[in-house]
Amino acid sequence: MKATDTLKKYFGYDAFRNGQEEIIHSILSERDALAVMPTGAGKSICYQVPALMLSGITLVISPLISLMQDQVKSLNEAGIHAAFINSSLTESQISKALSLALKGIYKIIYVAPERLESSGFMNFALNGQISMVTVDEAHCISQWGQDFRPSYLKIVDFIECLPKRPIVSAFTATATEEVKTDIECILKLNQPKIVVTGFDRENLYYSVEHVSGKRKDDFVINYIEKHPQESGIVYCSTRKNADALYEKLRQRKVSVASYHAGMDNETRKRNQDDFIYDRIQVMVATNAFGMGIDKSNVRFVIHYNMPQSMENYYQEAGRAGRDGENSQCILLFSAQDIMINKFLLEKKEFDGVDIQDIELIKQRDAQRLHAMEGYCKMTSCLRNYILGYFGERTSLPCENCGNCHREYSEVDMTTDAKWMINCIAETKGRYGQNIVIGTLIGANRARLREIGAESYKSYGILQNRSESELRLLLDQMIMEGYIVQTNGEYSVLKIGDISALKEADARVIVRKFEERKETLSGSKKRSTDSLTSAGFDLFGKLRELRFAIAKENAVPPYIIFSDKTLIAMCANMPKNRQEMLALPGVGEHKFDKYGAKFLEEIAKFLKEHPNAVLSVQTQEMDEDSRKPKSKGKKGLFYINPEDAKNFAYASYYYISDINDKLNSICSVENVKKLTIYVIWDYLVSAGLTQEQEQEGKIVKQQTQEGLKLGIKTVDKVSQNRGAYQLLMYPEQVQKMIVEYFTGPREEH
Ligand code: ADP
Ligand code: ZN
Repeated sequence: MKATDTLKKYFGYDAFRNGQEEIIHSILSERDALAVMPTGAGKSICYQVPALMLSGITLVISPLISLMQDQVKSLNEAGIHAAFINSSLTESQISKALSLALKGIYKIIYVAPERLESSGFMNFALNGQISMVTVDEAHCISQWGQDFRPSYLKIVDFIECLPKRPIVSAFTATATEEVKTDIECILKLNQPKIVVTGFDRENLYYSVEHVSGKRKDDFVINYIEKHPQESGIVYCSTRKNADALYEKLRQRKVSVASYHAGMDNETRKRNQDDFIYDRIQVMVATNAFGMGIDKSNVRFVIHYNMPQSMENYYQEAGRAGRDGENSQCILLFSAQDIMINKFLLEKKEFDGVDIQDIELIKQRDAQRLHAMEGYCKMTSCLRNYILGYFGERTSLPCENCGNCHREYSEVDMTTDAKWMINCIAETKGRYGQNIVIGTLIGANRARLREIGAESYKSYGILQNRSESELRLLLDQMIMEGYIVQTNGEYSVLKIGDISALKEADARVIVRKFEERKETLSGSKKRSTDSLTSAGFDLFGKLRELRFAIAKENAVPPYIIFSDKTLIAMCANMPKNRQEMLALPGVGEHKFDKYGAKFLEEIAKFLKEHPNAVLSVQTQEMDEDSRKPKSKGKKGLFYINPEDAKNFAYASYYYISDINDKLNSICSVENVKKLTIYVIWDYLVSAGLTQEQEQEGKIVKQQTQEGLKLGIKTVDKVSQNRGAYQLLMYPEQVQKMIVEYFTGPREEH
């Protein structure tokens, strides 16, 4: 059977997405693979399809129990024999599963990395036929990544113990060059096929809202009230924030649950299930929630606080819209978030990390936080900022993010700023923002009279400004450190370091914006937009049916069929098996299990509403909205002769330095980002370097020719990798590389 047939038969999809086929092809030709693809791009398919086609068992190493359970349920629903082995099972359940595994009952087995060392598991591994080891969330292996897990380091020992080396494939959604190199080296991937797909998620709308204090609550409440049917996650940076917000939402009768590491396992599990099974609408959580949450219909992810890094942000926000439907990612930013994060980073623990690396990691953390702040303070396209951060070149603004929908202007509020300081001095730092701002605009409030604000010099002095303008100013001043806002329930404003403000040329510039287009409603259409009211009725009926079946089978509803599949049913009204199988997401096994019930429901509806029009095509229902539609394919990387002049040569560079430099000087639009692998390929083809096998390992080294030109080797030692060597390239070789990449290159 061909890979596409397997895809259709088990998963119900007609075609592979960008990147999937390359990975699968490589695995099937027994070559290791490393795939870096954003959340929702479809990484699972990349190992599940070949797992079904390889003769033996595929072991999937995955860090989280909830992820394994979900994946296994999904696979079982698709008619695939799969199991998981982790600490949620009893010893006797584990040995039963392992003895079935030895008999070759399962094609796919999910396992936690800690388990690899246990003797029961090892016994199975030595005697079973393991064709492939897949490492999911592979960035966990690197201490440069944001979720380093020491247990991942054991994977390679495990692989090396096996009687026959299996194919090794690794998957991750976030990887910088360092993390990628770590994955490749620590896992000892053997000349892996590396596929990095574009990071853009076109169906996600990004925005940053500058709101602080209690107004964040109002924002969240208001948003949820405006989106009553939609499932969403609100991320808070601390348990305390999460608890407080949860309580407020509960009081407002929002269907809400919470999740954080301070709760007991059972409660956490129950709340998570309530969310996944669509029994509650909103989840308020810390970043403990979500890794491995495959729920496909999350329509919004709101960050109540700024996260610690873009990596974290993109991963958490990326839990929205896995089904490809338009969804929103909103970050609520206030100056105080920066303080909270600095505090959290100070408290960070370093388990299993070399002492000499801790300082470096701390520096890295600070840089990451800085980049995250940059995102929050940006006034141009947010999507381009994200993509740029992950190393993708972009050109035009996306026209589908908060900033692209806004017009920013800068206002000089230096005089206002000085008055604000005066006002805080007059109130002796005893009051919070409402009193200070109320005083400055001269509000007529009982509370202000009570404290005698009317007698202050600053009372009403800024009456020509609006309250919201002064809030922006206040945020700006907190950010610049002129004002300090204390923590706690009764947070007050105090004067910070104002020495810079006393300089003659001091300026406080505030960015104001106006909405240009419809904003938070998002301008993009959803595929439910094509349904008429009759179509919606049927959609509702099919959802009810799905809910009932899900309950009966104890699986989350989206595992039965996704919303997208149900909408396709409404739009196409299939009448028989063949028509149903033609829809995206309907595989043979699922059809056999549930198809009849859905056909029946559709037929019943059509009988009751013989002339109903269920859908009007407002847009092309594109199965794969991630594919760039109009942008066209990106060409191979090259630089212009003008760019080449900007290359800063040095006596020696690592290949990654050369790569970074070339990417940063490139002014050519619409070309792929350059990677070290492309440079490496060039060096090999130019006869300067080579890959040689030594004691079963592939070693990268210079050729005689390369040695003559001055390519040298430096020895490195790391606790994880042991001793290894890196090549360094002299100026002469740097020049050859720059020359090679100057001017367009042909794809071959
Ligand atoms: P990732 O692990 O990369 O975050 P998943 O593997 O969970 O993503 O896939 C996201 C969604 O995309 C799933 O609902 C999956 O069924 C769907 N999907 C994957 N591959 C395809 C494909 N080729 N065609 C259509 N849908 C796909
Ligand atoms: Zn944009």
